[in-house]
Parts: sequence; structure tokens; C-alpha cells
Amino acid sequence: MDVPGSQMSDNELSKDRNELPDIQVSKPSSFSVVKSSVSSSSGVHELLECPVCTNSMYPPIHQCPNGHTLCSSCKLRVHNHCPTCRHELGDIRCLALEKVAESLDLPCRYQNLGCSGIFPYYGKLKHEQLCEFRPYNCPYAGSECSITGDIPSLVAHLKNDHKVDMHDGCTFNHRYVKSNPHEVENATWMLTVFNCFGEHFCLHFEAFLLGVAPVYMAFLRFMGEEEDAKKYTYSLEVSGSGRKMIWQGVPRSIRDGHKKVRDSYDGLVIHRNVALFFSGGSRQELKLRVTGRIWKEQ
Ligand SMILES: [Zn+2]
Ligand SMILES: [Zn+2]
Ligand SMILES: [Zn+2]
Ligand SMILES: [Zn+2]
Repeated sequence: MDVPGSQMSDNELSKDRNELPDIQVSKPSSFSVVKSSVSSSSGVHELLECPVCTNSMYPPIHQCPNGHTLCSSCKLRVHNHCPTCRHELGDIRCLALEKVAESLDLPCRYQNLGCSGIFPYYGKLKHEQLCEFRPYNCPYAGSECSITGDIPSLVAHLKNDHKVDMHDGCTFNHRYVKSNPHEVENATWMLTVFNCFGEHFCLHFEAFLLGVAPVYMAFLRFMGEEEDAKKYTYSLEVSGSGRKMIWQGVPRSIRDGHKKVRDSYDGLVIHRNVALFFSGGSRQELKLRVTGRIWKEQ
């Protein structure tokens, strides 16, 4: 059967949910066919929306004896009763809908964020995990923050909600002072955002225990994709009391969580004892002067 899905209108599909129409969303052979099958599949897409959690349903798709469908993760949560009619659920699969699901080509879920990709049902899931248009997680490290978004919205979020220091320019000179440097156990975080080359960079300064050794670590993350992060290099220099340490590195993308970067030691790592040498004086106070620079490799 070569009839593309466009023969079936959305209305016809949503009118009778229990009776699956004999549509064949054929494997498209040209781009124009892809387009028509996608536009007409929005009704099918609705059918595949779990009525409980509204996520797309993927096989195995379940149904109650009265034909109400629900996704497999919701099935686990509803204690064997249909959320729609309260009937006992049992273990009935909705094979017809599963077949429809498998035959569909669907746009990436980040279409509204700019992705124009269209994928077969399963390929879509894979793609979405890596889609370059997927939102970024908030790069702030000090708390579990669940905010996601594009770079401009995250920059505004860091500024307004986390009260992060914002700086323009590609060089910096920072002082980290701590009155009781022996309390590294309660890991502390500091974040500064730099705006240069029209991009945003996160400078992290963290204190934590590396095994049993208290350390300080400074590293840079790029607010964007790894591919673009690699175009930049940065250096960090900590000095004081006649001593100096220099780190040169490549900023990591904020796609990599700050913990992942930290645990890979991809940055300037200063043991507390060394840090106290830099601080000079009584060793009762941590005073680190970190200077840095970001530049673009050509
Ligand atoms: Zn569900
Ligand atoms: Zn039901
Ligand atoms: Zn995508
Ligand atoms: Zn946040």
C-alpha cells in the first residue's frame, strides 16, 4: 500500500480512538513524502500521547480491557487499575498502536528550539539525547538546580537567581579569601561568568576533599557545545610569597557537569598545604590570587 498518511485527516483519527484506522505511514522515499507524512501524523502523535503523563508512548504500550492505553512507566505506577475507567488492568498490550508507533517518522522533540531533524520512532530517542538543540542544564554548582534552557536564558538565570558575578573581558584577576581554610569538608563553590568573544565562560573555584587531602580547584567551562569550547584556551596562574603555579587548558562544555570536570582534575588543582604557602603569613587564612586569560586558537 503506497498511500501516504496524508490521506487520513486528523479529525478522523481523533474521533474514534479505539478503532485504529488502517493507515500506513509508509517509509518515505523522498523528502516531500516525509513532510506530508509528518504533518498528517499529528493526529497519530496524539494517539501516542500517554493520557496519564502526556509523554510519547513507546512499546510496550499497555491497555485496559476497555481499550484505554497508557505508557509502560505509568502502568507501573497505577497499581494495576486503569486511570481512565478504574478497571483492573491486567497485562494487555496494544500491539496495533505499537505497530503504528514503530512505523512513524517524527520530528525531534526540540523542534521548537530549532531542530529540523525527522527520525524513525526509535532513532528519535537516540537523537534527542545528543540533539544540539536540547536545553542545557544550569551550570551553577553549589546546589541541585533543575533549571534548563538555552545559553541566553541561563546567563540571565545565573545573574538573577544565583547572583553570580558577571564580568566582561578575557582576562581576570581574582582573590579568594577564606578565614578558616581548614573547613574544606563542607565543599564550597564559587562561580564567576566571563563574557568575551561574544561567548560566556564559567570560572569555577571549588574546595573539596580529594581522597583525604583537602584541595582547591579552579577550572573553566564554556557555555556552549564541546566543539566550540575547543576553539578556546585558557590559563590560570596562582602566585604569592615567591611561588607560582600555572595551568593551561581547554574549557570544557557545560554539557559536562561540573562534578565530571572536577573529578577528572581537568583544571588547576592546588593542595591546601601549597595553597597556604601561597597565602603566606600565619597559615590561618587562605588568600589566593588567581589571574587568568582566555584566548581563541586559530
Ligand atoms: Zn504515561
Ligand atoms: Zn480503562
Ligand atoms: Zn534534534
Ligand atoms: Zn540554576
